[in-house]
Amino acid sequence: MSDTNDFEVVPLRAFKDNYIWTLRNGRYAAVVDPGDAQPVLDYLQQEQLELCAVLATHHHPDHVGGIADLRARRAVPVYGPRGEPISTLTHPVGEGDEVEIPRLGLRFSVLDIPGHTRAHIAYYGANSLFCGDTLFACGCGRLFEGTAQQMAASLAKLTALPDATLVYSGHEYTLANIDFARAVEPDNEDLMARAASEAEKRKSGRPTLPSTIGREKKTNPFLRCLQPAVIASANKYLGTRMSDPVQVFAAIREWKNEF
Ligand SMILES: [Zn+2]
Repeated sequence: MSDTNDFEVVPLRAFKDNYIWTLRNGRYAAVVDPGDAQPVLDYLQQEQLELCAVLATHHHPDHVGGIADLRARRAVPVYGPRGEPISTLTHPVGEGDEVEIPRLGLRFSVLDIPGHTRAHIAYYGANSLFCGDTLFACGCGRLFEGTAQQMAASLAKLTALPDATLVYSGHEYTLANIDFARAVEPDNEDLMARAASEAEKRKSGRPTLPSTIGREKKTNPFLRCLQPAVIASANKYLGTRMSDPVQVFAAIREWKNEF
């Protein structure tokens, strides 16, 4: 088993802005967060591929809603967070577990990254990170079930991965996220350059994902709560003087909700 087998990652669109990331070789495919079965079934049919596994990051319906229909056609293993109510899981997993997909020659480590939901997980392997609604390009998920402290710790765990790691998030939110990031860090030159290149991708109908951990560290305000410019903006928003990174994170998360 190696992480260097030939495989491709293909985005399938679902709903308004979800991506169902599809890992495939010439014969088999696994899908991450199939909120809707139909785009997956259409793609499998069109490409003559056999589904071999389903991976879920968290329990929201736009990420797991298609699993039952997929499993009704083929009894594949379904991995997902042990700590969340997903009735279709066959293999509940959490931090420290490994997920092996032999048909694709892939192996992922499971990371617990709570915050968006109580027991949200990510899959990391083959230089790729599937992180659902926790880390977005230039943004992060809303805090529906976790605390700012949990989310900040989860994001810190992801930023400790190698800079070259490819980041596959669950939604195409990038341009709106960049608008907010520029309000937080108007003088960040990496961010200005990124705004132009991501807008160009969207104009020609391409996804802005995957990103990389290195790119996010330079341009994502939620990962930059130790930067003086981000601290200053958070204080301006709240009318306070603080520098604790979790408080800074909480302030810009709240600001983004109202932006
Ligand atoms: Zn979600």
